[in-house]
Amino acid sequence: MLKANNPQLLSWIEVPANCDFPIQNIPFGIFKTTQKPPRMGTIIGNTVIDLQTMAEMGYFNDLDLIKTVFSQKYINDFMSLGKAKTLAVRDKLAELFSSENPTLRDDSSAKSKILHHKDEVSLLLPVQVGDYTDFYSSREHATNVGIMFRDPQNALLPNWLHLPVGYHGRASSIVVSGTSIIRPKGQMRPNQEQPPVYGPSKQLDFELEVAFVVGKSNTMGSSVSTGEAEDYIFGLALFNDWSARDIQSWEYVPLGPFLGKNFGSTISPWIVTLEALNLLRVQGPVQEPKVLPYLEYQGEKSYDIQLEVLIRPENGQETLVSHSNFKYMYWTMAQQLAHHTVNGCNMRVGDLCASGTISGPTPDSYGSMLEISWKGTKPVNMTDGSERKFIDDGDTVILKGWGERNGLRIGFGICEGKVLPAK
Ligand code: CA
Repeated sequence: MLKANNPQLLSWIEVPANCDFPIQNIPFGIFKTTQKPPRMGTIIGNTVIDLQTMAEMGYFNDLDLIKTVFSQKYINDFMSLGKAKTLAVRDKLAELFSSENPTLRDDSSAKSKILHHKDEVSLLLPVQVGDYTDFYSSREHATNVGIMFRDPQNALLPNWLHLPVGYHGRASSIVVSGTSIIRPKGQMRPNQEQPPVYGPSKQLDFELEVAFVVGKSNTMGSSVSTGEAEDYIFGLALFNDWSARDIQSWEYVPLGPFLGKNFGSTISPWIVTLEALNLLRVQGPVQEPKVLPYLEYQGEKSYDIQLEVLIRPENGQETLVSHSNFKYMYWTMAQQLAHHTVNGCNMRVGDLCASGTISGPTPDSYGSMLEISWKGTKPVNMTDGSERKFIDDGDTVILKGWGERNGLRIGFGICEGKVLPAK
């Protein structure tokens, strides 16, 4: 077992109850302070740890790392080191911050240079995303959308149970949690009897998703099998794939989503390694009909990660609008990656693959307002007395995600974005 995965491990850094970041998590991200330029960090409890300064002080000397790997603006170079190195860093951090280890614990001068309270730092976009692919892998979501927009009797299209449907998204507009999203304008056709109109979207929505980051490239012409996939997946983050339903429904035939999706996507700031999530592994859903051999896989490749969506109106209180779970996904990440590369498509370090909206079986577990309000026909009651069919200006949409086993909780923190009026 990886040292950092030892459930008995405690840190000398305080970890509050129900915190997503115990010493067994050790996610990776990028932060800056008023004094320090962007650099890599990790977090335990509410304490952000400066990995660049630790490297300068020699704490990783025995790992033979490239000197500048922690001083980059993104974690891509670090991921490129490969899992042997990156997991060794994670283990080294677990060792240095475990309660028994006095090296740093009893060195106040070193601690003052390395540790920051999370409120003292700004968290930045952790990954330079090259290509972004969005899947459509929740059976419940695809079924709901099929019922609403096509045929309730044949909600799933014929290919859906045979392959993980996906499309190529836009990487340039992926922003870190905390970044505001401007309501998109575009062309819509709200009345089918009338010509299309132009203006701000009236059906702005979130999509509750989990994304994985590719940490190892494959050469063009080669493919990654389901068995090899975990070696290529560095880690996971929460992902809100903002969607303008009115723009989307008018533009999407025949080539799929375009301007209804590419104006913004929000990612959580800490990339949680696949290995930190080991304790949350569960068996995936039974796949019937049987998949083609290249999509078959062995073992537990799904993850029991609870997911929540809350909406906070301007100056108002949060309302929980969805409680879903990553384990509801029909297609696993290993299958998504195997399918993505089966034609020889080359993935590069920093590529991002999002799950698609993660809806569960019941209305309180649906992963978008489109489904929760059933196309606007069932408004949601907010705690402040207002109603929502979609997302209003001034609303902040907050995603949360975490899993728990035997009292140990591993989570992602939050992924939030506020909607500003159209310009
Ligand atoms: Ca999506």
